Amino acid sequence: MERLKIYLIIVNDKVMLLKSLKIALFVGMILNIINQGDKIFSLDFASIDYLKTLLTFTVPFMVSTYTALSMKIKFQVGEVASIDSKLKCIRCNSSINVKKNEIVPLCHKCNEKTKWRMKL
Ligand SMILES: [Zn+2]
Repeated sequence: MERLKIYLIIVNDKVMLLKSLKIALFVGMILNIINQGDKIFSLDFASIDYLKTLLTFTVPFMVSTYTALSMKIKFQVGEVASIDSKLKCIRCNSSINVKKNEIVPLCHKCNEKTKWRMKL
């Protein structure tokens, strides 16, 4: 449940949603032209499969949103944290808390070999 709450906080970012919508519109239009271009250009609207059309826009939206989400939950040393989070070093199991917009620090035990994962 905590994981879902964090995902929803990240996905609720207007800038990220706008980017995902732009990608979905651009990629969706190209894919629709590829898949149903003959019907679209001949203005044969009765034979266009509107469910396919909707899905063709939905899939790139979901893929771009998932990709953005997966990038935001990675915490690399030296980068700015995108959300408040508890991090666990996967090498030594030590934990820290980082606040949104803080620089992600090195693990005090592992130094340059630090690998943080979000602790849920
Ligand atoms: Zn460590």
